[in-house]
Amino acid sequence: MNTIESKANEEKRSLSFVEQLVEEDLAEKKNSGRIQTRFPPEPNGYLHIGHAKAICMDFGVAEHYKGICNLRFDDTNPSKENTEYVENILNDISWLGFKWENIYYASDYFEKLWEFALWMIQRGYAYVDEQTSEEIARQKGTPTEPGQASPYRDRPVEENLELFHKMNTPEAIEGSMVLRAKLNMADPNMHFRDPVIYRIIQTPHHRTGTKWHCYPMYDFAHGQSDYFEGVTHSICTLEFVPHRPLYDKLIDFLKESDGTADVLNDNRPRQIEFNRLNLTYTVMSKRKLHTLVEEHFVNGWDDPRMPTLSGMRRRGYSPESIRNFIDSIGYTKFDALNDVALLEAAVRDDLNKRATRVSAVLDPVKLVITNYPDGQTEEMESINNPENEAAGTHNITFSKNLWIERDDFMEEAPKKFFRMTPDKEVRLKNAYIVRCTGCTKDTNGNITEIQAEYDPDSKSGMPGANRKVKGTLHWVSADHCLTAEVREYDRLFNIENPSADERDFRELLNPESLKVRANCFVENHLASIKPGEYLQFQRTGYFVLDPDSTETHLIFNKTVGLKDTWAKEKAKA
Ligand code: ATP
Ligand code: MG
Repeated sequence: MNTIESKANEEKRSLSFVEQLVEEDLAEKKNSGRIQTRFPPEPNGYLHIGHAKAICMDFGVAEHYKGICNLRFDDTNPSKENTEYVENILNDISWLGFKWENIYYASDYFEKLWEFALWMIQRGYAYVDEQTSEEIARQKGTPTEPGQASPYRDRPVEENLELFHKMNTPEAIEGSMVLRAKLNMADPNMHFRDPVIYRIIQTPHHRTGTKWHCYPMYDFAHGQSDYFEGVTHSICTLEFVPHRPLYDKLIDFLKESDGTADVLNDNRPRQIEFNRLNLTYTVMSKRKLHTLVEEHFVNGWDDPRMPTLSGMRRRGYSPESIRNFIDSIGYTKFDALNDVALLEAAVRDDLNKRATRVSAVLDPVKLVITNYPDGQTEEMESINNPENEAAGTHNITFSKNLWIERDDFMEEAPKKFFRMTPDKEVRLKNAYIVRCTGCTKDTNGNITEIQAEYDPDSKSGMPGANRKVKGTLHWVSADHCLTAEVREYDRLFNIENPSADERDFRELLNPESLKVRANCFVENHLASIKPGEYLQFQRTGYFVLDPDSTETHLIFNKTVGLKDTWAKEKAKA
């Protein structure tokens, strides 16, 4: 067992530590037994499969304990956010199969947060610092050395109020002033060393326009929003562990400001952290994903090679397979790297139950059944899904001239080659047993046509079909098929953990992550297939129609192969 697999199993055992903590709170009757969670995306990019892990937890806990889960856009940084992202996030969450109770925006609380900041200043808990961010950083100290006080730390309340109002004017220059909470410059927790809580941003906000010119920082918006909404469990990822004391401290201040300080443990959100999802051969950082899109290393956020939910949807992953994968890796307190092969196995598992089986030849070579009458055709019954009888059947047309896969034929084959080779019998799927009689080559020795004779008594279902023939090949009729483009995808990165590599991540990209086959032949049944319908190209893999597809130009994305050939390749290397 490799390290990644053993990590995954270890994770499975400690599946529900979050639920255990929630149950403790329920047993203590905290928040009068109410359960309320939220999923808090920042609308500054598309959701990726890491977000799906958070979504499954946030919505899962609410569902399990009959509480509610809201969606809250943490939109406090207008320079990176927009409504396109908001809309795609809504779409992706619905696609995963979750229903939020309400949609909230941190920007709805700008007024309240402003009032709270004023209260902080009036109490002497906050001050305006006019130093540069570099100066402030220099004074921060280190975890073992205390920081130094800003020269502005003790300025009078009136001056702070005046400057804070100035920060919120169109004339304010970004970076010229910040509002800092006055906590403790010697605290061992660096987040307590007078954290910045407001900064000037002059980019208009996608919802509030130019109403505001300064905006709360994450730490001064997230916990506060949780509190305003009545969130009971604020579940997030491990990097927020060191923020938790500040989260709690600022809630104390809020409770002091609204006069509920004496009921400290009621109506108090509790932050709980779990490990992030990281996948092999990809990156999950939004900054890097932005670069991939903006510098055209991929064709947009929904490129099927991206770890985004929209990319995975376009590639043909079902939401169920993503949720099953997330269930299988579980939630822990340790960061791990999850093997993408586990995700692919979950996809195969799910698609096997639902994909319609069809015939498609990706690397075609002509096969002529020389003893089959010219112009004759037969409709052969093809089972849509052997795993699901209710899926029924469809017909595929058989005729004299067929396409088969080039690598299903060898002129001189080794013993164990059970496909087509002269003088040997193979079965054509849903049709007849044929015996290869030879092939034709061009002057360069490339095979241009293969010939075979069929046994008329060997049609599927006839007694003659029962004799033992080792190989079964898929095919399409040359005069009864459609041309299609097929896009095959490989790992986006060449190395297992690009995030841990010192080199620029762009240098680690796999230059062969996209392979386009322009001249594939697919059976006519695919003319009526809908986008999003899961398909299995028999013997090849799972596929789905790409949204770029038109009636005259069909395009299919390869979702995943039938077997994990990549693991084999890796073992060979
Ligand atoms: P940013 O760098 O922009 O903050 P982010 O990935 O943290 O990126 P958010 O929109 O802030 O994006 O994330 C929303 C929620 O999703 C947060 O609660 C965050 O903890 C969670 N989340 C983000 N990435 C992962 C991940 N890889 N695994 C699990 N949860 C994640
Ligand atoms: Mg974040």
